[in-house]
Amino acid sequence: MNNIILLAPPAAGKGTIVKLLCEKYNYVSISTGDILREKAKNDSDLSELLKSGKLVPDDVVFNFLESKLNKLDNISYILDGFPRTKKQAIMYDEFLKSTNRSLGVVIYLDIDKDELIKRVTTRVICPNCKKIYSLRDEKFAPKEYMICDDCSSHLKYREDDKEDIFEKRYDEYLKNTLPLINYYKDKGVCILISDYDAKAIVSRISSLVNYND
Ligand code: ADP
Repeated sequence: MNNIILLAPPAAGKGTIVKLLCEKYNYVSISTGDILREKAKNDSDLSELLKSGKLVPDDVVFNFLESKLNKLDNISYILDGFPRTKKQAIMYDEFLKSTNRSLGVVIYLDIDKDELIKRVTTRVICPNCKKIYSLRDEKFAPKEYMICDDCSSHLKYREDDKEDIFEKRYDEYLKNTLPLINYYKDKGVCILISDYDAKAIVSRISSLVNYND
């Protein structure tokens, strides 16, 4: 079973896709954004950095990720939000080499900026179980307004899901993350998906990761 790296612009809906894949298959999801938001609860500098839309320093993110990966036993995982820079990709390659793991497939979700802005301003998240909802798309809307279907917690907007902060996150993406597409294309492991529908994206990914679907 191939590990998956999901590369996409901010607010592309990576979290929703990862959740659908984990429900369908035996994957563990590793979101560096979730790890950082959890750490930021006890770290005001980190919290401010996340609110600003800027990237967290490579070695900080990598250390958190590495300790998480070291705890995983032989189970396939999906990396959501990592790598975000070429330096992170290189650090990760070195980690794979030293631990005898394989890279797997890299999926690049190509989504238009106008669509991302619509998504970012209508996305809400459960602070307890982390389930993500869209107030715009009825397929992903909560059954009861602003209440989590699964654990009944009150849903929240993410602090960095404001349009001006989104612009900063998008600039970081263009500058740092987009060049990774060529990095992985050169390795022959990058697959482009231009679909916008989460279920269609999941079924396309399913056909790429060695399953008998
Ligand atoms: P999105 O993909 O919608 O921007 P994430 O939850 O993946 O949301 O990331 C939220 C924030 O966490 C980013 O704006 C950035 O500040 C930080 N972050 C997450 N992953 C990384 C990473 N790999 N490297 C640096 N910063 C990161």
